[in-house]
Amino acid sequence: MTQYDYDLFVIGAGSGGVRAARIAAGYGAKVAVAEEYRVGGTCVIRGCVPKKLFVYASHFSDEFKHAKGFGWDVGKSTFDWPTLIANKDVEIDRLNKIYIKNLETAGVEIILHRAEFKDDHTLVLVGENRTVTAERILVAPGAAPFVPHNVPGATYAITSNEAFHLETLPKSIAIIGGGYIAVEFAGIFNGLGVETHLLYRGDPILRGFDEDLRKGVQGEMQKKGIDVQTNANVSCIHDHTHDNGGHFTVDIDDKPSIDVELVMYATGRVPHTTGLGLDKAGVNLDGAGAIVVDEFSQTNIENIYAVGDVTNRAQLTPVAIREGHAFANTVYGERPTSVDHAMIPTAVFSQPEMGTVGLTEEQAREKFGKIDIYKSTFNPMKNALSGSDEKTMMKLIVDAITDKVLGCHIMGPDSGEMAQLLGISLRMGATKADFDATMAVHPTAAEELVTMRTKFEG
Ligand code: NDP
Repeated sequence: MTQYDYDLFVIGAGSGGVRAARIAAGYGAKVAVAEEYRVGGTCVIRGCVPKKLFVYASHFSDEFKHAKGFGWDVGKSTFDWPTLIANKDVEIDRLNKIYIKNLETAGVEIILHRAEFKDDHTLVLVGENRTVTAERILVAPGAAPFVPHNVPGATYAITSNEAFHLETLPKSIAIIGGGYIAVEFAGIFNGLGVETHLLYRGDPILRGFDEDLRKGVQGEMQKKGIDVQTNANVSCIHDHTHDNGGHFTVDIDDKPSIDVELVMYATGRVPHTTGLGLDKAGVNLDGAGAIVVDEFSQTNIENIYAVGDVTNRAQLTPVAIREGHAFANTVYGERPTSVDHAMIPTAVFSQPEMGTVGLTEEQAREKFGKIDIYKSTFNPMKNALSGSDEKTMMKLIVDAITDKVLGCHIMGPDSGEMAQLLGISLRMGATKADFDATMAVHPTAAEELVTMRTKFEG
């Protein structure tokens, strides 16, 4: 009989926490999970899932435009934002209920309150005014949007959290940032007919991805009518919504100010550790406020673990899920499991979409020196009748000595789907010769990946 109320207490019912709780309970542990907002976490409630639904919604404007070449006359189309929001909310409620049911079926107790550390085995349930004890504690509260509050007027801006619940669709928006969220939402708002400005402090957008694709996506976004301003440092946001202007004015260093109905910050997400009382438990944080863990997600305190965005290893849902599962296997399943954070396939649901796995050209050159580049930029078949001039781009980075494919980067429709499958080949160590020996699927865009023969001479 344990001296604690629970074998495992999980803080945060998001992707990582829910997976860990369910698997640990499946191994026979007595588990509780505390959640201060909604079960499902950022990905399900106000991240990946509703975002992808918005992306689908925003594609229709292009589809209607392109339908004509295929003989369709779709007439005059109109868009109703409240319908999209209401339908999205129904789907999110459905998923939220599934998450709750899955936890309950696994025997996990759900506590809909915030939990904070009192000491390394004790948590205060804020709102219930009681404490609970646990043999082990898993910290999985995710991350929260970062807003640079040193910019005057930054508080007027929304973040992605609020973007999912806007009552009305703005006529114009300025999105500050040039990463995943900024680029995805710029495509969403533009596709829904909003005058969209993307203000990024660097050049080109999407730092960290392959440079050719960064430039490619930026160019295509501009062609779609998005005002992408690079080297754009926002210095001040003025609120003129209550006077005749009815807008916000965004001042940008050395560039003309812009007037918009809404301003959104998408400038990264910070580990959600503030106020958790981790200091009372003696848990070490790094300089960015992330919990420091070892390869088994264990902190410096033996009975405290952490998974997901709060550890800042890779802020991606599938990574958090893997970390949660590996933790439960290690601690409760007697199967020590670490997560391999290398070679993570990922997609940016920009328009055009970007799918990528492995090293960028720049990273490969630095690490391997001698590399071969194969790249192809072409008009996808659909453009023949659609009238669209949006290009598809594919790029393979190959180790010139071993012939191993080190990276694969794609810009174009369904590139996220392709990245998922390419991730398997690259993890298995596929060579360029393996790609060449693979029969093409015709007619597809992906066949280009196995038919590129000419090295790119830069
Ligand atoms: P990112 O880290 O992707 O991008 C942050 C952007 O904000 C960068 O362009 C950065 O510029 C800029 N920035 C940071 N600080 C400032 C500042 N003080 N002033 C101006 N600009 C600033 O974060 P996101 O918020 O876009 O997304 C958060 C995380 O969520 C991502 O890391 C990603 O892992 C995850 N996510 C994944 C998605 C997917 O898988 N499709 C979708 C959405 C989010 P710079 O490049 O110069 O540093």
